[in-house]
Amino acid sequence: MEEDRSAAPGPEGRGSLAQLFEDGGLLQHLFHHSTEGFLALDFRTLETVEVNDAFCRMLGRSRAELIGERPDAWLAPEDREPFWKTAVRRGEEDSRQYEARLVARDGTRVPVLANASTWSAGPEGPAMSLVFVTDLTRLKRTEELSEQLMHVLEAFPGLIGMCDGHLNFLYHNAYAKELLGADRAEGVTMRGTHPEWAFRVMREEAFPTAANEGYWVGDSALLDKTGREVPFLVTVVAHHDRAGEVRRYSLVGIDQSVQNLAEERRHRYAEQLRSISRLISLEGLTSLLAHQLNQPLAALGNYAVAGQRLVPQECPESTRLRDLLDNMQRETRKASDTLVQVRKFLKGEGPDFHALDLNDLVRRLPPFLQEGTASGRVPVRLQLAKGPVTVVGDHLQLQEVLHNLVHNAREANRERSPSDPDPVVLRTRRQGGEAQVDVVDAGPGLPPEMGTDVLVRPFYTTKKGGIGLGLWVAYTILEGHKGRLEAFDNPDGPGATFRVRLPVEP
Ligand code: ADP
Repeated sequence: MEEDRSAAPGPEGRGSLAQLFEDGGLLQHLFHHSTEGFLALDFRTLETVEVNDAFCRMLGRSRAELIGERPDAWLAPEDREPFWKTAVRRGEEDSRQYEARLVARDGTRVPVLANASTWSAGPEGPAMSLVFVTDLTRLKRTEELSEQLMHVLEAFPGLIGMCDGHLNFLYHNAYAKELLGADRAEGVTMRGTHPEWAFRVMREEAFPTAANEGYWVGDSALLDKTGREVPFLVTVVAHHDRAGEVRRYSLVGIDQSVQNLAEERRHRYAEQLRSISRLISLEGLTSLLAHQLNQPLAALGNYAVAGQRLVPQECPESTRLRDLLDNMQRETRKASDTLVQVRKFLKGEGPDFHALDLNDLVRRLPPFLQEGTASGRVPVRLQLAKGPVTVVGDHLQLQEVLHNLVHNAREANRERSPSDPDPVVLRTRRQGGEAQVDVVDAGPGLPPEMGTDVLVRPFYTTKKGGIGLGLWVAYTILEGHKGRLEAFDNPDGPGATFRVRLPVEP
């Protein structure tokens, strides 16, 4: 691009700062080297009198091309009218600011902020319109991007927030406003939104860790607008300033209650299914078949024998009749034998007894029994006897016993202190000729009517949605192991202990 500066007052000499002001050198310098665009229009004709380099760059055109042109040549058509109305014609106002779009040589539109003022040379009125033009392309792009990001944040199905170094929220997305209640979300503090334990975790662990290491991820909880505690998986990110001070924290929280609910339902459902199928397939069905069919079959056999004896010798059909009763007896015996086979088969599917160490069994419980799940947050603490505690039993069945007892103990601990439940203690020991596993909770204790008879009574439950088979299955399995199940309130504190007692393998 060829620049013709002959008409422009060019910078002359080097001079001092005072000189710059005196001879207009500073103004010329600013005019030519500013990154802001600048143009001067004749107030009367609106022809361009002067432009600087920055303005030429915005349009991708030379100064020579622009001098003499009217703004219509480079203003976007939709911006022409407002420009005429506000920017140029209204010379009475000192300074006007407006946004417009310029059309560059290659057709791209350049968003700009224009600052126009009127310059009068003498008493005869305004001589020129002077316009400073700021290129807003980058700012607009950033604004657009922020707007899109804002949409994403607002539509995010979880909590997104930002708080200052004093843990006051500065921003909440729509999800948070809905969860916390629109009024509460405004200017609410971290303390106000968390239950006490979660606020402690945030203040003592989450924010200090994020400040030191950049971020923190962990379990926390929020109080919703009704005061209900909602579990959240939270990520905290710290934003530092140049001096290394934390200025802001961003928070992203995923509501875990929906997931936990599904997980809990799945567990409960699986547990109920297991118990019911055990009841139906082994205990129920076999004994039902045995009882319902064995008796009539035996009776049928006896009737056939008695009938044979009663058939009179002189009866012309006596031989045929005896043959028929013979067949009947044989078929009855066959049916009985089949029943015995079925029972044997079912028994063959039953327990698989061998020597096992209860310490080992407890240590190798499935992970979801050993640790507090995110849903439960009820850990299990092991207190194991020194040396092996050996019994003869079925590994899977004894695991099932512990599963049912630990599950109940966790529920009990959660019932008593939902937000900060105590751990469940699993203790093994040898006591005389006995091996014991205690499942100790810190829950509300046993229901008053609970006695040994309750343990052996299927479908006894005090829980909403409970089925009342967990203890019964445990009791039945232990009976099959020549063992016992006992339950008692803890003598030295809240809660109950469920004790599994099994004969020790010598
Ligand atoms: P469910 O869990 O479906 O109710 P269970 O057989 O596991 O069935 O338990 C039966 C009942 O025994 C429970 O409803 C509860 O009243 C009582 N129970 C079981 N475990 C405990 C415990 N650790 N603390 C207090 N009560 C318990």
